[in-house]
Amino acid sequence: MIKRPMPPEDMPMFVAAPEIYEWLHDTIFNPDHAWYNADHEHVFDYQVNELAFMWAHSGFDKAGKRVIGQCEKPMFMAGGWKRERQIMWFEDMLGEVPDMLITLDAQYCRECSYSDFAALVEHELYHIVHKLDNYGAPSFRSDGKPRLDLVSHDVEEFNGVVRRYGGDEAVMKMTDLQNQEPELKIDD
Ligand SMILES: [Zn+2]
Repeated sequence: MIKRPMPPEDMPMFVAAPEIYEWLHDTIFNPDHAWYNADHEHVFDYQVNELAFMWAHSGFDKAGKRVIGQCEKPMFMAGGWKRERQIMWFEDMLGEVPDMLITLDAQYCRECSYSDFAALVEHELYHIVHKLDNYGAPSFRSDGKPRLDLVSHDVEEFNGVVRRYGGDEAVMKMTDLQNQEPELKIDD
């Protein structure tokens, strides 16, 4: 089995994690590997400086939930020195500003199972979709690579609402999938 990326034991708040990119291309992005997933094909041609990964020293709490992973499109709301300072941070950390950045909680990833790690990486990747143009057709950059967009989760619901009113179509679909055998069985 291909070894999973492991965050360094001793690390600052953030550190670049190109090993996650390499691991993806050996496994989930690799058509010859059992874990291959074509759902992510819009990022297959993205280079490591465009689809970047980072370890964060630890997670954080947001709205009462622990955040252990995050997928973002780096954007700069500021101008002038503020903007330049933000760009410089990315350049120092990653060489340049990536199109998409996935950050993972190093503490969680050190302790979780291989299966949980792969699930977390794919969770973040599922936030990235092929952007559509105004007519609903897949949109491409001038270099031929798919334009990327971010989406939220397939299910956004409270247990209490499902308990009291039942689930909508998205919840039903999720329940249905949960009742089937997982496609992947990853042993540690
Ligand atoms: Zn998410």
